[in-house]
Amino acid sequence: MAVGEGMSSQAVDVRWMRLANLSLVLTTIIRHAPVSQSLLIDLTGLKKPTISNLVDELARLGWVRVEGAVRNKIGRPRQLLAPNPGRGLIVSAQISIDRLATLIVDFSGTERARGISTVDVSRISQSETVGRLAHLVRDGLRDAGAAPGGVLATALGLPGIVGEHGDVVYVPGLAWDTADVGGMLRSALADVVATDVPLLVENEANLATVSEQRPQACRDVHNFVYLLGEAGVGAGVVIDGALFRGTRGAAGEIGHVSIALDGPRCSCGKRGCWALYVGREALLTAVRPGRAGGRGSSLWNAGSGHGGEPDPLTPERIVAAARAGDAVAAEALGLLRRYLAAGIGNIASAYDPEVVVLGGFLATAFAQDLDALQSEVDAWLMGDLYDGLRVELSTHGHDAPLWGGVALALHHLAANPRAVDPLPATG
Ligand SMILES: [Zn+2]
Repeated sequence: MAVGEGMSSQAVDVRWMRLANLSLVLTTIIRHAPVSQSLLIDLTGLKKPTISNLVDELARLGWVRVEGAVRNKIGRPRQLLAPNPGRGLIVSAQISIDRLATLIVDFSGTERARGISTVDVSRISQSETVGRLAHLVRDGLRDAGAAPGGVLATALGLPGIVGEHGDVVYVPGLAWDTADVGGMLRSALADVVATDVPLLVENEANLATVSEQRPQACRDVHNFVYLLGEAGVGAGVVIDGALFRGTRGAAGEIGHVSIALDGPRCSCGKRGCWALYVGREALLTAVRPGRAGGRGSSLWNAGSGHGGEPDPLTPERIVAAARAGDAVAAEALGLLRRYLAAGIGNIASAYDPEVVVLGGFLATAFAQDLDALQSEVDAWLMGDLYDGLRVELSTHGHDAPLWGGVALALHHLAANPRAVDPLPATG
Protein backbone atom coordinates (compact mmCIF):
# COMPACT_ATOMS: atom_id res chain seq x y z
CA MET A 1 0.00 0.00 0.00
CA ALA A 2 1.28 3.47 -0.81
CA VAL A 3 2.06 5.57 2.21
CA GLY A 4 -0.40 8.40 2.72
CA GLU A 5 -3.54 6.56 1.67
CA GLY A 6 -6.41 7.21 4.01
CA MET A 7 -4.96 10.43 5.40
CA SER A 8 -6.83 13.69 5.18
CA SER A 9 -5.25 16.14 2.76
CA GLN A 10 -4.56 18.65 5.55
CA ALA A 11 -2.67 16.08 7.55
CA VAL A 12 -0.35 15.09 4.80
CA ASP A 13 3.02 16.69 4.88
CA VAL A 14 4.00 16.45 1.23
CA ARG A 15 7.71 16.36 1.90
CA TRP A 16 7.33 13.63 4.51
CA MET A 17 5.16 11.61 2.16
CA ARG A 18 7.68 11.89 -0.65
CA LEU A 19 10.47 10.67 1.65
CA ALA A 20 8.28 7.79 2.84
CA ASN A 21 7.53 6.80 -0.75
CA LEU A 22 11.22 7.13 -1.66
CA SER A 23 11.94 4.68 1.15
CA LEU A 24 9.14 2.37 -0.01
CA VAL A 25 10.49 2.27 -3.58
CA LEU A 26 14.08 1.62 -2.46
CA THR A 27 12.96 -1.10 -0.03
CA THR A 28 10.93 -2.74 -2.81
CA ILE A 29 13.88 -2.63 -5.23
CA ILE A 30 16.14 -4.21 -2.58
CA ARG A 31 13.64 -7.01 -1.89
CA HIS A 32 12.65 -7.79 -5.48
CA ALA A 33 15.66 -6.82 -7.63
CA PRO A 34 16.01 -6.82 -10.53
CA VAL A 35 12.64 -5.16 -11.01
CA SER A 36 10.98 -3.18 -13.81
CA GLN A 37 9.13 0.08 -13.22
CA SER A 38 5.81 -1.60 -14.06
CA LEU A 39 6.41 -4.25 -11.38
CA LEU A 40 7.26 -1.42 -8.96
CA ILE A 41 3.87 0.13 -9.75
CA ASP A 42 2.15 -3.19 -8.93
CA LEU A 43 4.13 -3.78 -5.75
CA THR A 44 3.89 -0.27 -4.28
CA GLY A 45 0.52 0.94 -5.56
CA LEU A 46 2.16 4.23 -6.59
CA LYS A 47 1.38 5.87 -9.94
CA LYS A 48 3.76 5.73 -12.90
CA PRO A 49 4.91 9.39 -12.89
CA THR A 50 5.54 9.19 -9.12
CA ILE A 51 7.60 6.02 -9.53
CA SER A 52 9.66 7.52 -12.40
CA ASN A 53 10.34 10.58 -10.32
CA LEU A 54 11.38 8.62 -7.24
CA VAL A 55 13.55 6.23 -9.25
CA ASP A 56 15.30 9.25 -10.79
CA GLU A 57 16.07 10.60 -7.34
CA LEU A 58 17.33 7.20 -6.10
CA ALA A 59 19.60 6.93 -9.16
CA ARG A 60 20.86 10.49 -8.61
CA LEU A 61 21.65 9.68 -4.97
CA GLY A 62 23.52 6.56 -6.14
CA TRP A 63 21.27 3.92 -4.53
CA VAL A 64 19.94 2.21 -7.65
CA ARG A 65 21.17 1.54 -11.15
CA VAL A 66 19.84 0.04 -14.36
CA GLU A 67 20.82 -3.58 -14.58
CA GLY A 68 19.79 -5.04 -17.91
CA ALA A 69 16.42 -4.89 -19.64
CA VAL A 70 13.56 -7.15 -20.70
CA ARG A 71 11.49 -6.79 -23.89
CA ASN A 72 7.73 -6.82 -23.70
CA LYS A 73 5.34 -7.87 -26.50
CA ILE A 74 5.49 -4.54 -28.30
CA GLY A 75 9.26 -4.87 -28.35
CA ARG A 76 10.09 -1.86 -26.24
CA PRO A 77 12.85 -2.77 -23.79
CA ARG A 78 11.92 -2.24 -20.15
CA GLN A 79 14.80 -1.36 -17.88
CA LEU A 80 15.42 -3.46 -14.81
CA LEU A 81 16.43 -1.67 -11.62
CA ALA A 82 18.67 -3.03 -8.87
CA PRO A 83 20.57 -1.74 -5.85
CA ASN A 84 23.88 -0.17 -6.89
CA PRO A 85 26.74 -2.34 -5.54
CA GLY A 86 29.11 0.62 -5.90
CA ARG A 87 27.11 2.63 -3.36
CA GLY A 88 29.16 1.33 -0.45
CA LEU A 89 29.68 -1.53 1.96
CA ILE A 90 27.75 -2.98 4.87
CA VAL A 91 29.63 -4.52 7.78
CA SER A 92 27.85 -7.25 9.72
CA ALA A 93 29.70 -8.36 12.86
CA GLN A 94 28.81 -10.97 15.44
CA ILE A 95 29.93 -11.82 18.95
CA SER A 96 28.89 -15.34 20.01
CA ILE A 97 29.94 -17.21 23.12
CA ASP A 98 32.41 -19.33 21.11
CA ARG A 99 33.30 -17.21 18.09
CA LEU A 100 33.65 -13.79 16.53
CA ALA A 101 32.62 -13.34 12.92
CA THR A 102 32.23 -10.69 10.26
CA LEU A 103 30.57 -10.55 6.88
CA ILE A 104 31.06 -7.62 4.52
CA VAL A 105 28.70 -7.13 1.59
CA ASP A 106 28.17 -4.40 -0.97
CA PHE A 107 24.86 -2.55 -1.25
CA SER A 108 23.50 -5.19 -3.64
CA GLY A 109 23.97 -7.76 -0.86
CA THR A 110 26.85 -9.54 -2.60
CA GLU A 111 29.44 -10.95 -0.24
CA ARG A 112 32.80 -9.15 -0.48
CA ALA A 113 34.70 -10.54 2.51
CA ARG A 114 34.25 -12.56 5.64
CA GLY A 115 36.24 -13.51 8.70
CA ILE A 116 35.88 -15.83 11.65
CA SER A 117 37.81 -16.30 14.85
CA THR A 118 37.11 -19.17 17.24
CA VAL A 119 37.47 -17.92 20.78
CA ASP A 120 35.85 -18.62 24.13
CA VAL A 121 34.49 -15.15 24.77
CA SER A 122 33.77 -15.98 28.41
CA ARG A 123 37.54 -16.28 29.00
CA ILE A 124 38.56 -12.88 27.66
CA SER A 125 37.56 -9.40 28.73
CA GLN A 126 34.85 -7.33 27.14
CA SER A 127 37.36 -4.85 25.73
CA GLU A 128 39.56 -7.63 24.32
CA THR A 129 36.49 -9.17 22.70
CA VAL A 130 35.61 -5.90 21.00
CA GLY A 131 39.27 -5.31 20.05
CA ARG A 132 39.53 -8.72 18.35
CA LEU A 133 36.26 -8.17 16.53
CA ALA A 134 37.47 -4.77 15.29
CA HIS A 135 40.61 -6.50 14.01
CA LEU A 136 38.47 -8.97 12.01
CA VAL A 137 36.41 -6.10 10.57
CA ARG A 138 39.56 -4.19 9.59
CA ASP A 139 40.96 -7.28 7.80
CA GLY A 140 37.62 -7.76 6.02
CA LEU A 141 37.46 -4.16 4.82
CA ARG A 142 41.00 -4.48 3.45
CA ASP A 143 40.07 -7.75 1.64
CA ALA A 144 36.95 -6.06 0.24
CA GLY A 145 39.05 -3.16 -1.07
CA ALA A 146 37.02 -0.64 0.92
CA ALA A 147 37.54 2.98 -0.07
CA PRO A 148 37.85 5.61 2.68
CA GLY A 149 34.33 6.51 3.79
CA GLY A 150 33.04 3.44 1.94
CA VAL A 151 31.08 1.91 4.82
CA LEU A 152 27.36 2.75 4.84
CA ALA A 153 26.32 0.95 8.04
CA THR A 154 27.52 -1.55 10.61
CA ALA A 155 25.37 -4.17 12.35
CA LEU A 156 26.47 -5.95 15.52
CA GLY A 157 24.83 -9.16 16.77
CA LEU A 158 25.21 -10.27 20.40
CA PRO A 159 24.07 -13.21 22.53
CA GLY A 160 22.34 -10.80 24.89
CA ILE A 161 19.25 -8.75 25.47
CA VAL A 162 19.36 -5.47 23.60
CA GLY A 163 17.17 -2.51 24.50
CA GLU A 164 15.22 -0.34 22.13
CA HIS A 165 18.12 2.07 21.58
CA GLY A 166 20.81 -0.55 21.00
CA ASP A 167 21.90 -0.55 24.64
CA VAL A 168 22.98 -3.99 25.81
CA VAL A 169 20.82 -4.81 28.81
CA TYR A 170 22.07 -8.23 29.78
CA VAL A 171 24.39 -10.91 28.38
CA PRO A 172 23.68 -14.29 30.05
CA GLY A 173 26.82 -16.30 30.77
CA LEU A 174 29.24 -13.41 30.27
CA ALA A 175 30.58 -11.27 33.09
CA TRP A 176 30.05 -8.07 31.11
CA ASP A 177 28.88 -4.86 32.56
CA THR A 178 26.05 -3.45 30.53
CA ALA A 179 28.41 -1.02 28.88
CA ASP A 180 27.78 0.48 25.49
CA VAL A 181 29.29 -2.35 23.42
CA GLY A 182 28.24 -0.63 20.19
CA GLY A 183 30.05 2.53 21.28
CA MET A 184 33.16 0.49 22.13
CA LEU A 185 33.16 -1.07 18.65
CA ARG A 186 32.58 2.33 17.07
CA SER A 187 35.65 3.72 18.88
CA ALA A 188 37.75 0.67 18.00
CA LEU A 189 36.90 1.13 14.31
CA ALA A 190 37.21 4.92 14.22
CA ASP A 191 40.18 4.76 11.82
CA VAL A 192 38.28 2.79 9.14
CA VAL A 193 34.58 3.58 9.69
CA ALA A 194 33.42 7.19 10.10
CA THR A 195 31.94 7.70 13.57
CA ASP A 196 28.66 9.05 12.15
CA VAL A 197 28.00 5.81 10.21
CA PRO A 198 24.97 4.04 11.76
CA LEU A 199 25.87 1.17 14.10
CA LEU A 200 22.93 -1.10 14.82
CA VAL A 201 23.07 -3.52 17.76
CA GLU A 202 20.66 -6.43 18.00
CA ASN A 203 20.24 -9.80 19.68
CA GLU A 204 21.74 -12.63 17.57
CA ALA A 205 18.57 -14.77 17.59
CA ASN A 206 16.53 -11.77 16.46
CA LEU A 207 19.03 -11.21 13.64
CA ALA A 208 18.87 -14.88 12.61
CA THR A 209 15.10 -14.51 12.52
CA VAL A 210 15.29 -11.39 10.34
CA SER A 211 17.51 -13.32 7.90
CA GLU A 212 14.58 -15.70 7.23
CA GLN A 213 12.35 -12.82 6.19
CA ARG A 214 14.45 -12.25 3.11
CA PRO A 215 13.12 -14.09 0.05
CA GLN A 216 13.53 -17.57 1.50
CA ALA A 217 11.76 -20.28 3.41
CA CYS A 218 9.59 -18.10 5.60
CA ARG A 219 8.93 -15.30 3.13
CA ASP A 220 5.18 -15.81 3.03
CA VAL A 221 4.82 -17.07 6.57
CA HIS A 222 3.42 -14.43 8.91
CA ASN A 223 3.82 -16.29 12.20
CA PHE A 224 6.99 -18.21 12.88
CA VAL A 225 9.50 -18.84 15.65
CA TYR A 226 13.22 -19.15 14.97
CA LEU A 227 15.20 -21.23 17.47
CA LEU A 228 18.89 -20.36 17.47
CA GLY A 229 20.51 -23.21 19.37
CA GLU A 230 24.14 -22.84 20.37
CA ALA A 231 25.49 -22.82 23.93
CA GLY A 232 22.09 -21.51 24.92
CA VAL A 233 18.87 -21.34 22.98
CA GLY A 234 17.49 -18.00 21.88
CA ALA A 235 14.38 -17.43 19.85
CA GLY A 236 13.07 -14.80 17.51
CA VAL A 237 9.30 -14.57 17.42
CA VAL A 238 7.62 -13.15 14.31
CA ILE A 239 3.97 -12.28 14.82
CA ASP A 240 1.91 -11.01 11.89
CA GLY A 241 5.13 -10.46 9.93
CA ALA A 242 6.85 -8.33 12.57
CA LEU A 243 9.57 -9.29 15.03
CA PHE A 244 8.17 -9.28 18.57
CA ARG A 245 10.77 -7.71 20.89
CA GLY A 246 8.73 -7.34 24.07
CA THR A 247 8.70 -4.43 26.52
CA ARG A 248 12.44 -4.64 27.31
CA GLY A 249 13.74 -6.34 24.17
CA ALA A 250 13.79 -9.54 26.21
CA ALA A 251 11.07 -11.51 24.40
CA GLY A 252 12.10 -14.85 22.95
CA GLU A 253 14.37 -15.95 25.81
CA ILE A 254 12.74 -19.34 25.47
CA GLY A 255 15.94 -21.13 26.52
CA HIS A 256 15.36 -19.77 30.02
CA VAL A 257 11.85 -21.12 30.40
CA SER A 258 12.17 -23.51 33.33
CA ILE A 259 10.88 -27.02 32.69
CA ALA A 260 12.16 -28.58 35.95
CA LEU A 261 11.83 -26.62 39.18
CA ASP A 262 14.45 -28.80 40.91
CA GLY A 263 16.61 -29.15 37.81
CA PRO A 264 20.27 -28.12 37.49
CA ARG A 265 21.24 -24.49 38.04
CA CYS A 266 21.40 -22.36 34.87
CA SER A 267 23.82 -19.48 34.18
CA CYS A 268 20.82 -17.14 34.47
CA GLY A 269 20.37 -18.09 38.14
CA LYS A 270 17.21 -20.14 37.72
CA ARG A 271 16.86 -23.92 37.78
CA GLY A 272 15.92 -26.40 35.08
CA CYS A 273 15.98 -24.01 32.12
CA TRP A 274 15.09 -25.62 28.78
CA ALA A 275 18.47 -24.62 27.28
CA LEU A 276 20.16 -27.04 29.71
CA TYR A 277 18.32 -29.89 27.94
CA VAL A 278 18.59 -28.78 24.31
CA GLY A 279 21.76 -26.61 24.17
CA ARG A 280 25.09 -27.93 22.83
CA GLU A 281 26.24 -29.01 26.29
CA ALA A 282 23.15 -31.21 26.73
CA LEU A 283 24.62 -33.87 24.43
CA LEU A 284 27.86 -33.97 26.45
CA THR A 285 25.84 -34.32 29.65
CA ALA A 286 23.69 -37.07 28.13
CA VAL A 287 26.60 -39.40 27.23
CA ARG A 288 28.24 -39.09 30.68
CA PRO A 289 26.29 -41.94 32.37
CA GLY A 290 27.21 -44.27 29.49
CA ARG A 291 30.88 -43.52 29.96
CA ALA A 292 30.74 -43.83 33.76
CA GLY A 293 28.86 -47.11 33.39
CA GLY A 294 31.54 -48.56 31.13
CA ARG A 295 29.37 -48.92 28.03
CA GLY A 296 31.24 -49.43 24.80
CA SER A 297 31.12 -46.52 22.38
CA SER A 298 33.16 -45.08 19.53
CA LEU A 299 33.00 -41.80 21.48
CA TRP A 300 35.73 -42.87 23.89
CA ASN A 301 37.76 -45.01 21.55
CA ALA A 302 41.16 -43.74 20.54
CA GLY A 303 40.72 -41.36 17.64
CA SER A 304 42.93 -40.22 14.85
CA GLY A 305 44.36 -37.55 17.14
CA HIS A 306 47.80 -37.31 18.68
CA GLY A 307 49.34 -40.34 20.37
CA GLY A 308 46.18 -42.45 20.26
CA GLU A 309 44.35 -39.98 22.53
CA PRO A 310 40.60 -39.83 21.92
CA ASP A 311 39.51 -36.83 19.87
CA PRO A 312 37.98 -34.17 22.10
CA LEU A 313 34.34 -35.01 22.79
CA THR A 314 32.25 -32.37 21.07
CA PRO A 315 28.50 -32.20 20.42
CA GLU A 316 29.27 -32.42 16.66
CA ARG A 317 31.17 -35.70 17.23
CA ILE A 318 28.22 -37.13 19.15
CA VAL A 319 25.86 -36.21 16.30
CA ALA A 320 28.21 -37.84 13.76
CA ALA A 321 28.55 -40.98 15.91
CA ALA A 322 24.76 -41.23 16.30
CA ARG A 323 24.40 -41.10 12.51
CA ALA A 324 27.04 -43.83 12.20
CA GLY A 325 24.99 -46.09 14.48
CA ASP A 326 26.71 -45.64 17.85
CA ALA A 327 24.09 -46.63 20.46
CA VAL A 328 25.26 -44.30 23.28
CA ALA A 329 25.39 -41.32 20.92
CA ALA A 330 22.03 -42.21 19.34
CA GLU A 331 20.37 -42.37 22.76
CA ALA A 332 21.82 -38.95 23.67
CA LEU A 333 20.54 -37.43 20.42
CA GLY A 334 17.17 -39.15 21.00
CA LEU A 335 16.93 -37.55 24.44
CA LEU A 336 17.75 -34.14 22.97
CA ARG A 337 15.04 -34.73 20.33
CA ARG A 338 12.44 -35.50 23.01
CA TYR A 339 13.22 -32.30 24.95
CA LEU A 340 13.28 -30.30 21.73
CA ALA A 341 9.91 -31.70 20.65
CA ALA A 342 8.40 -30.96 24.06
CA GLY A 343 9.72 -27.40 23.91
CA ILE A 344 8.38 -26.91 20.39
CA GLY A 345 5.04 -28.14 21.76
CA ASN A 346 5.25 -25.40 24.41
CA ILE A 347 6.09 -22.83 21.73
CA ALA A 348 3.03 -24.00 19.76
CA SER A 349 0.86 -23.51 22.83
CA ALA A 350 2.23 -20.00 23.40
CA TYR A 351 2.40 -18.62 19.85
CA ASP A 352 0.59 -20.96 17.45
CA PRO A 353 3.18 -20.49 14.67
CA GLU A 354 3.03 -21.94 11.16
CA VAL A 355 6.70 -22.84 11.19
CA VAL A 356 9.43 -23.36 13.77
CA VAL A 357 12.85 -22.81 12.17
CA LEU A 358 15.93 -24.51 13.62
CA GLY A 359 19.21 -22.61 13.40
CA GLY A 360 22.77 -22.91 14.67
CA PHE A 361 23.72 -26.18 16.36
CA LEU A 362 20.11 -27.39 16.41
CA ALA A 363 20.10 -27.25 12.60
CA THR A 364 23.36 -29.25 12.51
CA ALA A 365 21.99 -31.84 14.94
CA PHE A 366 18.76 -32.50 13.05
CA ALA A 367 19.76 -31.80 9.44
CA GLN A 368 19.50 -35.51 8.55
CA ASP A 369 16.88 -36.38 11.12
CA LEU A 370 14.16 -33.82 10.54
CA ASP A 371 11.38 -36.35 9.82
CA ALA A 372 11.95 -38.11 13.15
CA LEU A 373 11.85 -34.75 14.93
CA GLN A 374 8.69 -33.72 13.08
CA SER A 375 6.98 -37.01 14.12
CA GLU A 376 8.00 -36.48 17.73
CA VAL A 377 6.70 -32.89 17.61
CA ASP A 378 3.41 -34.05 16.07
CA ALA A 379 3.03 -36.58 18.88
CA TRP A 380 3.62 -33.85 21.48
CA LEU A 381 1.12 -31.34 20.15
CA MET A 382 -2.30 -31.05 21.76
CA GLY A 383 -4.43 -33.38 19.65
CA ASP A 384 -4.84 -32.03 16.14
CA LEU A 385 -5.14 -28.40 17.24
CA TYR A 386 -1.79 -27.45 15.66
CA ASP A 387 -2.01 -29.74 12.63
CA GLY A 388 0.35 -28.65 9.89
CA LEU A 389 2.92 -26.96 12.15
CA ARG A 390 6.20 -27.48 10.30
CA VAL A 391 9.73 -27.75 11.64
CA GLU A 392 12.25 -26.48 9.09
CA LEU A 393 15.99 -25.85 8.91
CA SER A 394 17.45 -22.36 8.76
CA THR A 395 18.31 -21.12 5.27
CA HIS A 396 21.64 -19.58 6.29
CA GLY A 397 22.94 -22.10 8.84
CA HIS A 398 25.52 -20.65 11.22
CA ASP A 399 25.68 -17.46 9.15
CA ALA A 400 22.05 -16.56 9.86
CA PRO A 401 22.82 -13.80 12.44
CA LEU A 402 25.37 -12.25 10.05
CA TRP A 403 22.89 -12.17 7.14
CA GLY A 404 20.26 -10.84 9.53
CA GLY A 405 22.64 -7.99 10.33
CA VAL A 406 22.90 -7.25 6.61
CA ALA A 407 19.09 -7.22 6.30
CA LEU A 408 18.79 -4.91 9.33
CA ALA A 409 21.37 -2.50 7.90
CA LEU A 410 19.71 -2.47 4.45
CA HIS A 411 16.35 -1.79 6.11
CA HIS A 412 17.85 1.07 8.12
CA LEU A 413 19.53 2.65 5.07
CA ALA A 414 16.40 2.32 2.94
CA ALA A 415 14.31 4.01 5.65
CA ASN A 416 15.94 7.34 4.79
CA PRO A 417 17.80 7.35 1.47
CA ARG A 418 18.59 11.05 1.89
CA ALA A 419 20.45 10.56 5.18
CA VAL A 420 23.64 9.51 3.40
CA ASP A 421 25.62 11.94 1.23
CA PRO A 422 25.09 11.31 -2.50
CA LEU A 423 27.88 9.55 -4.34
CA PRO A 424 30.18 12.04 -6.05
CA ALA A 425 29.34 12.21 -9.77
CA THR A 426 31.80 10.24 -11.86
CA GLY A 427 33.06 11.73 -15.07
ZN1 LIG B 1 18.32 -20.01 32.50
